[in-house]
Amino acid sequence: MVPAYDLAIVGGGINGCGIARDAAGRGLAVYLCEMDDLASGTSSRSTKLIHGGLRYLEYYDFRLVREALREREVLWRIAPHVIRPMRIVLPYRRGLRPVWMLRFGLLLYDYLGGRELLPPTRVLDLTRDPAGAPLKPGIFRTAFEYSDCRVDDARLVALNARDAAEHGATIRTRTKAVAAVRRDSAWDVTVEDLRSGQRETIAARALVNAAGPWVAQTLASCLGLATRQHVRLVQGSHIVVPQLFEHDRSYMFQNPDGRIVFAIPYEDATTLIGTTDRDYAGDPGGAVATPEDILYLCNAVSDYFTRPVSPADVVWSFSGVRPLHDDHVREPKAATRDYVLELDAPQGRAPLLSVFGGKITTYRRLAEAALDRLDLRQHARWTQHASLPGGDIAVDGLAALAGALAAEFPFLSAAHASRLAAAYGTRARHILAGARAGGSRNPVRRDAHAGRSAISDGAGMGANRR
Ligand SMILES: Cc1cc2nc3c(=O)[nH]c(=O)nc-3n(C[C@H](O)[C@H](O)[C@H](O)COP(=O)(O)OP(=O)(O)OC[C@H]3O[C@@H](n4cnc5c(N)ncnc54)[C@H](O)[C@@H]3O)c2cc1C
Repeated sequence: MVPAYDLAIVGGGINGCGIARDAAGRGLAVYLCEMDDLASGTSSRSTKLIHGGLRYLEYYDFRLVREALREREVLWRIAPHVIRPMRIVLPYRRGLRPVWMLRFGLLLYDYLGGRELLPPTRVLDLTRDPAGAPLKPGIFRTAFEYSDCRVDDARLVALNARDAAEHGATIRTRTKAVAAVRRDSAWDVTVEDLRSGQRETIAARALVNAAGPWVAQTLASCLGLATRQHVRLVQGSHIVVPQLFEHDRSYMFQNPDGRIVFAIPYEDATTLIGTTDRDYAGDPGGAVATPEDILYLCNAVSDYFTRPVSPADVVWSFSGVRPLHDDHVREPKAATRDYVLELDAPQGRAPLLSVFGGKITTYRRLAEAALDRLDLRQHARWTQHASLPGGDIAVDGLAALAGALAAEFPFLSAAHASRLAAAYGTRARHILAGARAGGSRNPVRRDAHAGRSAISDGAGMGANRR
């Protein structure tokens, strides 16, 4: 019997959904199951940066940094509604990395990845620049300001799933893969609908294990397989506090322990602070920011800001587990953030590809590499220039889109038009179509009515407050 699907994917995080989108667009029949909601795992618990990873230069991770730097502008162009450029202020701190080292690292950062749109690094005099205003006077005089991007991580996942579905993929949320059996040329994958308890078995020519921090667990429990690669679970926590500064730039602060912490303007007049790095054991779904994590982050930024931050200021916290490829270094902060793809394809038998590690930033390249490895006789690569749903605007076109929406739907306030533009891009018009007054149409319900509940608007509520 011919399998119904070319590819079955376990996991609806950024990597699973990115592979699903790429594969479906190449003409493959794709099935993806996610045991919770899309992006409910690590992919909604990130620092929400599309970044080259300045810090990884210290570990000579040039391949990863180059690829990630290149991806910043690729992803910004295909999804300018959910990805936006950001300037990051890195103050020099006496006794830590010397100025020459910061300067050299940022020079590499500017030129390693073929930057075209993002502005280059510049030096700031913090005694004059507004970025110096919230910082302790007399201590921080010089800083470097460089470019990266910010992302609505959960929406990026949902957009990939939506596009995969529009290319014909079957996307099942609240559906857990519970067993997979390899027949000679196909996998029989048994999935359970966690709401109804019903099970079904689907057949696919190839199987991808993109279960993130559950990757090894999935191999063992579904497939009875051990992995040659090892996954190292490293927990990272964030806190959100009332807005700490007025401008729209972010800070990257160096800590005496060699780590760095970001302070990023976040939604609703708040500041996002993160992250920590700690080895983790236990259920990846159960990770929470501990009192120690919260205190560490408060202390780290209080070293810099004039107004100290204390645990009592924290309005929200979240924690995620990085599914890193274990390269056997001692400290969690030094473990590689690069990805490794493990292919298990005994001669003539259906292949299994497992994903270890990776970044939100590099998901698109990871998906291309995954399909190259699987070699399912698919069409050529296509995602580099193809907008994600709603992203068919100029990179700097978001304000114009919000203005156009406010003009077309006069009942929208400017703030509401901006929110819809940033969340849905040009697809906001689908949601608003036919509405004549505020409240006359509920966007989320309309999505569900349109039969799109499987790719919910609320995707990735794991650590997304919208
Ligand atoms: C604190 C922190 C900060 C980070 N910051 C950044 C950043 O700023 N920029 C960046 O680029 N990257 C960042 N990352 C890295 C990035 O978030 C992760 O590498 C990425 O999200 C991993 O995606 P994934 O799809 O592999 O895993 P996940 O998002 O965890 O997806 C795996 C999915 O598989 C599902 N699943 C598991 N088992 C089964 C099963 N049996 N059946 C069905 N479904 C199953 C899970 O429910 C889960 O949704 C950060 C990570 C952390 C933890």
